[in-house]
Amino acid sequence: MRLRRIPGTREKILQYTPWLVTEPTAWQGRWQDYIAGRLGSQQAEPMEIHLELGTGRGRFINEMARDCSDHFWIGAELREEVLLNALELAKKGETPNLAFLWINVEQTVDIFGVGEVDGIYLNFSDPWPKARHAKRRLTHRRFLERYRRYLKVGGKIRFKTDNEDLFRFSLEEFEANGFALQEVTFDLHNDPALSSMELSARVMTEYERRFSRRGMPIYRCEAVLCS
Ligand code: SAM
Repeated sequence: MRLRRIPGTREKILQYTPWLVTEPTAWQGRWQDYIAGRLGSQQAEPMEIHLELGTGRGRFINEMARDCSDHFWIGAELREEVLLNALELAKKGETPNLAFLWINVEQTVDIFGVGEVDGIYLNFSDPWPKARHAKRRLTHRRFLERYRRYLKVGGKIRFKTDNEDLFRFSLEEFEANGFALQEVTFDLHNDPALSSMELSARVMTEYERRFSRRGMPIYRCEAVLCS
């Protein structure tokens, strides 16, 4: 999938520096330097890096960055029209521990170094229901192999979706590709354990809000990288 470039968008998006990282491959293996540069004297210790892939309008990641300020949050998004919204929210909130990448998820292997990322969030990833498109699902083993290159051992992929078929497919893919499953729920918002789950389970994305308002169940799991 190639990035669609609407004339003038790059200029528009560049107004959102420092939240937009314009040359992300330059930071591969050096994201802690990037973070130190962004946060300046406030940041002496390495920070955990948490990555949302397919961040959309950025509601979830903006809220997470605000409420988990001891982590650095990076959102990756392909479509510039929704990314602009995510950048606007970050600028409005003046959120320092947050950055965005205007990229295809395919490119992330050239952007992050081995073990550089602590957590990955896949929220309402496109389901690609046709079997012939299975390879495009962000939980297909083709992508899991990529994530394994830069996710720390013991790091987690947190996955939420409204699509039961995609969820079942993803559970199988995680287990067959070196991830151990935990916190698997087929109805997150009616799960009695919800109040004791970590914050990311409870912070709603745009799509989550839309689907749960319609009474649809939300599926969620955590997949821990074993080795
Ligand atoms: N995560 C948001 C939420 O839960 O509200 C948005 C979900 S939306 C269904 C999926 C998003 O993933 C879209 O904004 C889409 O552009 C983005 N996306 C899909 N495939 C992508 C890829 N290969 N690289 C980057 N972004 C992608």
